[in-house]
Amino acid sequence: MRLTVFGNNATCPEADGACACYLLEAAGKKILLDLGDASLAKLQQKIDLAEIDLILISHWHFDHMGDLFCAKYQLETRAANGEVMRPILLAGPAAPPWAMAELGSGGVFEFCPLEAGRETTLQGVKVQPFALPHLIESYGLRLRAEGKTFAYSGDTGATDEVQALARGADLFLCEASLRNEQTAEQGHHLCAGMAGRFAARAGARRLVLTHYPASHAAAILAQARQQYPAAVLSRIFESYEIG
Ligand SMILES: [Zn+2]
Repeated sequence: MRLTVFGNNATCPEADGACACYLLEAAGKKILLDLGDASLAKLQQKIDLAEIDLILISHWHFDHMGDLFCAKYQLETRAANGEVMRPILLAGPAAPPWAMAELGSGGVFEFCPLEAGRETTLQGVKVQPFALPHLIESYGLRLRAEGKTFAYSGDTGATDEVQALARGADLFLCEASLRNEQTAEQGHHLCAGMAGRFAARAGARRLVLTHYPASHAAAILAQARQQYPAAVLSRIFESYEIG
């Protein structure tokens, strides 16, 4: 299993940055977790979109799925120009009607709604979604393949379910949006201290922080390391071997 980061900004892409997008290579497949604003330009520096076997969306906020729309335009244009394209499996919480109105045509994506708490096998990988507190329906994703476990928080408030999501994970990719614990957003996002605490309690073997404001990266890392000394910050284009 190998994880590569193509976007790790929170909310809005920073200059030359990109929002949430991660490639997990597992069971011989290429799996994207989220495809947030501006991430497609990063992804395409390393991989052709048509090589992707599965896209998992944590939730339908644009910093996690905004580039699905331009991905669709690219893939349907290529098909219209005679390229043989196979539909890409797209899984996550059920797509809202406004998203389906744009993404549901053209046979570019094959939709596969996930059900919270129910593990399913997609492209040879076991996928377990955890319903987590956020502004809209939002899933943490726990993936198992090759005897390894990878967990991704998506966006979430502080809840013991985060600990369940990350239990014993070989790598836990966790959001750290907030600068400290005393903010009005703590019901639907985590700070790095919370991420570190959940990772430590869960017995996660590695913690990689994401969805953090770059301007406060050093402080965020220090905060996480008070709870989980081996925490690291994700970097765009960096890869992490899992196991
Ligand atoms: Zn969100």
